[in-house]
Amino acid sequence: MTNTFTKGLLLSSVITLLSACNKPQSRPQIDINGKTMGTFYSVKVSGDIAISKEQLQHQIDALLEQANDDISTYRANSVLSRFNHSRSTNPQAIPRDMANIILMAQRIGQDTGGAMDITIGPLVNLWGFGPDKRPVKVPTQQQIAAAQKKVGLQHLNLFSDSLGEWLQKDLPGMYVDLSTLGEGYGTDELVRLMTRNGITNYLVSVGGAVSAHGVNSQGKPWRVAIQKPTDRENAVQALVDLQGYSISTAGSYRNYFELDGQHYSHIIDPSTGKPIQHRLVSATVIASTALEADGWDTGLMVLDTEKALQLAQEKGLAAYLISKTNDGFSTVMTPQFKAFLVQ
Ligand code: FAD
Repeated sequence: MTNTFTKGLLLSSVITLLSACNKPQSRPQIDINGKTMGTFYSVKVSGDIAISKEQLQHQIDALLEQANDDISTYRANSVLSRFNHSRSTNPQAIPRDMANIILMAQRIGQDTGGAMDITIGPLVNLWGFGPDKRPVKVPTQQQIAAAQKKVGLQHLNLFSDSLGEWLQKDLPGMYVDLSTLGEGYGTDELVRLMTRNGITNYLVSVGGAVSAHGVNSQGKPWRVAIQKPTDRENAVQALVDLQGYSISTAGSYRNYFELDGQHYSHIIDPSTGKPIQHRLVSATVIASTALEADGWDTGLMVLDTEKALQLAQEKGLAAYLISKTNDGFSTVMTPQFKAFLVQ
């Protein structure tokens, strides 16, 4: 029996930020990198700014710490963990930003017919992709069915009143998992931080969610590379110019385990309660916010190539899908995505 995990504490991104370091720079560039949310963040700023690198780094770390304190299921005392561990079905106060994330999740959840479902937590944990233990064997059908009973967006109620935002579950055992949206949210938070500091030329990312604005240190648009869908090489599959938009990729090939020759991805299909088992291996979405792109990429991954492409076309999404074939990979994209491709 083999049991292999490719995911260590830090995930490598499926998106590469192309640095301008090999070419002469016409303007200064600041690079700030660090760890957050079990992955890396990166901030590249070009041109003069009215704040020191140290001050900016301090603000970034404080902001991402706050995001972890709010929505991390890897922190026992985060707002989300307290909600998950509570058996109460009474409304519980949540921060406004967290309410906005859940609102987006509800919208994409509905649009994908439940393929993207943030109440997936009991299944994610059962399959060993949550904060606790890794599985040494595949769960039984009985365990899967029991976990599935605790899943469903219809059991989660989000509302606001004069006192603030509230989240309520009608099943005590529910477990909300915002991991699929956290990187997107973190990236949007970095964008808002840049705007607050009057910074206009930057490329920011948390894990596989990236946002680019303005120009790089050579005065050219930032370029982002989508990597080929394999855990072994860093070859470039496609290059995009984001033009002020955000991009996020979900894949089944970087975070998985293998048991007895079978590949189990961290992306779970709520309808089967099992990791996805189809030929779509990577879904990339470009949207006006990284949060939206990050939610859609997982939803499309669950749906498989044909349904994902159809839905992306219906919704006018900029989507790029890579599927496994018998002798390699094939790609399809919507016309909206094509507009961002660097030829
Ligand atoms: P995405 O495709 O964006 O999301 C996949 C993840 O979403 C799965 O791992 C699962 O959790 C969930 N999911 C699976 N199926 C579905 C579905 N159908 N619908 C909705 N969601 C689904 N990891 C660590 O190892 N250590 C940490 O300390 C840590 N801290 C974190 C703190 C925060 C605030 C967040 C948001 C995540 C943290 N993580 C941590 C988790 C890690 O970074 C995740 O693996 C990552 O967020 C998932 O992103 P992705 O781009 O790999 O995959």
